Amino acid sequence: MSIRIDSHKCSGCGKCREVCPGSLLRATDSGRTDIREPKDCWGCTSCLKECSCNAITYYLGADMGGRGSLLHTRQEGNLLHWIVTEPNGREKTITVDKKQANAY
Ligand code: SF4
Ligand code: SF4
Repeated sequence: MSIRIDSHKCSGCGKCREVCPGSLLRATDSGRTDIREPKDCWGCTSCLKECSCNAITYYLGADMGGRGSLLHTRQEGNLLHWIVTEPNGREKTITVDKKQANAY
């Protein structure tokens, strides 16, 4: 499992770099972000939750039942949309209210 960062969408905010537990993400010379060793990513999805630019794509490999699907997020106020794009182009979305998710 791994992620890909679209440098054209990345604003360079650095939020993903702050939360990656493996310190895998680094600033580039252009002020954006890339991943040092994609194979070292263990798929915690912390970076996806932080990216408000829709710049990070996560590969849902066959070993996770994803069969090559791609996952990205979209933020809308307190809502966090988790969007899975299947190989055939079909999308499925799960929406989480971040305030409710943290209430217990
Ligand atoms: S998914 Fe987790 S381990 Fe992988 S790059 Fe993002 S924050 Fe780091
Ligand atoms: S959180 Fe998104 S926009 Fe911000 S540095 Fe990371 S990839 Fe770029």
